[in-house]
Amino acid sequence: DPRIQAIQSSIRVVPDFPKPGIMFQDITTLLLDPKVFRDTIDLFVERYKSKNISVVAGIEARGFIFGPPIALAIGAKFVPLRKPKKLPGKVFRQEYDLEYGSDCLEMHVGAVASGERALVVDDLIATGGTLGAAMKLLECAGAEVVECACVIEIPALKACYYMSSLIYTSSYVVA
Ligand code: 5GP
Repeated sequence: DPRIQAIQSSIRVVPDFPKPGIMFQDITTLLLDPKVFRDTIDLFVERYKSKNISVVAGIEARGFIFGPPIALAIGAKFVPLRKPKKLPGKVFRQEYDLEYGSDCLEMHVGAVASGERALVVDDLIATGGTLGAAMKLLECAGAEVVECACVIEIPALKACYYMSSLIYTSSYVVA
């Protein structure tokens, strides 16, 4: 798909951010080009529009950029999966391991009903720990996670099989 090359070129790679040795994939430069941003959303919409998805769950923070336009276009609701202590209501909580230490995601109880078909959206998958925690939250609510969608995948670290990504960091394909 010719759109993929332009999407990949629009992502800035920043060496040694946020710490030495990390090649940070910066999607804010993708957002500066409305055509590329739209193409990114369209590719996901084309993949998910006929999959009977009723909820798109976006992971804080960059899943909040890509998730809502996908949700609107496929006629699904949007549910934010947030870092701890941000949501005011009763929450499901899921901890997950990071390279050093752990983190946590929360989702409002009642936002997703049992039996709903869910898509989880984030900007990037590395180890898959974050997406794995997100999937568990949706399963806590009784939802079925149809797939996880990311813009960027770091293939050496691939750890999650129920997913599509637009960009591999070494090459590019639509899964
Ligand atoms: P994982 O849990 O798969 O190891 O890491 C994925 C999470 O870390 C995602 O929520 C993603 O936003 C964030 N992340 C890790 N590295 C990068 C990066 O280089 N660029 C961006 N944009 N996000 C990253």
